Amino acid sequence: MLKTFKLMFTMNSLQSPNFFRIATKYNMNMDSSYYASYLVLLETSELANRVQTAWQHLESCDVCPLACGVNRLGGELGVCKTGANAQVSSYFPHHGEERPISGRMGSGTIFFTRCNLRCVYCQNADISQLGFGREVDSNSLAEMMLSLQRRGCHNINFVSPSHVVPQILAAVYTAAQNGLRIPLVYNTGGYDSVEMLRLLDGVVDIYMPDMKYGDDAAARKYSGIKDYPRVNQAAVTEMYRQVGDLSLDDNGVALRGLLVRHLVMPNNLANSEIIIKFLAEEVSKDTYVNIMAQFHPAFRAGDYLELNRRMTPQEYRHVINLAAVYGLSRLDQG
Ligand code: SF4
Repeated sequence: MLKTFKLMFTMNSLQSPNFFRIATKYNMNMDSSYYASYLVLLETSELANRVQTAWQHLESCDVCPLACGVNRLGGELGVCKTGANAQVSSYFPHHGEERPISGRMGSGTIFFTRCNLRCVYCQNADISQLGFGREVDSNSLAEMMLSLQRRGCHNINFVSPSHVVPQILAAVYTAAQNGLRIPLVYNTGGYDSVEMLRLLDGVVDIYMPDMKYGDDAAARKYSGIKDYPRVNQAAVTEMYRQVGDLSLDDNGVALRGLLVRHLVMPNNLANSEIIIKFLAEEVSKDTYVNIMAQFHPAFRAGDYLELNRRMTPQEYRHVINLAAVYGLSRLDQG
C-alpha cells in the first residue's frame, strides 16, 4: 500500500489520470508547482488509516521518544502534560520566520502548548513549560488551519508538534475534507519519533527541525533529555528521506523540503561542528540551514554560569566558517 503512494508522488505520476481526477475534484491549481499531497492520502483512505494508527499510540504513549507509557486517552499525563486534546497558545500569520516560510503573506503559525524538551534557556517557557494555552479538539484545530488559509498564509506551521502528532493528523483529516490546500510545516525541537514521522510521510511538506546539540551531556544538562544527538539525527534523516532538499517557488516561498535550524550557544555548548559535519556528510550539502545568533539567557539560564551570557560575534563566525569548510552553502540570510 505505502509503496503505491510513494509511486504516486513521482513526477511521472503527476501526469496520471488518477492525479488529474483528484486535482480536479479538490480544485488544485494545475499550473502551480505545488499540489497538496495529503489530498491524495485523503482520497485513498490512507489519511484516515494514519489517524487511527497514530491515535492508538496515545493509549500507552510513545508519541515521542520519551515513551512515557501513560494512557493519555484515559486522562493520564506524561512529561508533556498533554492529554487526549492538544493545547494551543496562539495562532496567527507569522512574518518573522525564515523568508521562504513567511513569504509576503505570512506563515499560518499554530503554537502548541507544552513540549517534550525542558530547555533551561527556553525563550517561550511560559508556553512550553508553564502551560499557557487552551485545550482544543481536532475540529477547532482544523478550523484554525482553515482560517489561516483564508487569511492568505502560505502554509500551516505547527510549532512544537512532537507530542501532538495524532491530534494534528486528525485535524488535517478534517481540514482537508473542508478545503485545506496549502503546505504543512512541521516546526520541531527535533526530538521526534521516527515511527510517528513515518505517519506524516506524504502529509507534511516542509520539515523545520532544530538540531540543538551534537553533545549528549549538554542535552541532558540543559534540556533534560537523554540521547538527543542520536534521536535527532535519526529524525532528520527520516525527514530528509521524505521531502529532500528545500524547493522554492518563483517568489522564493518554500514548497517542500528540509530546513534545519541550529542555535549557536555560548562556549560552544552545542558542539556545533558535529551538527554541521552530519548535515554535510550524512544528509546533503544542499541542506538549507539557519545558523541562529539570537541566544540570550532566558528563563533559568541564569542558574548556569556558562549559559549566562550572549555568544560573541567570534563564536558565531566560527560556526559560519565551519559551514563553509564542510561545504554547506544554503545558509539563511535572514
Ligand atoms: S508525547 Fe508526552 S506523554 Fe507521550 S511519550 Fe512524549 S512526553 Fe511522554
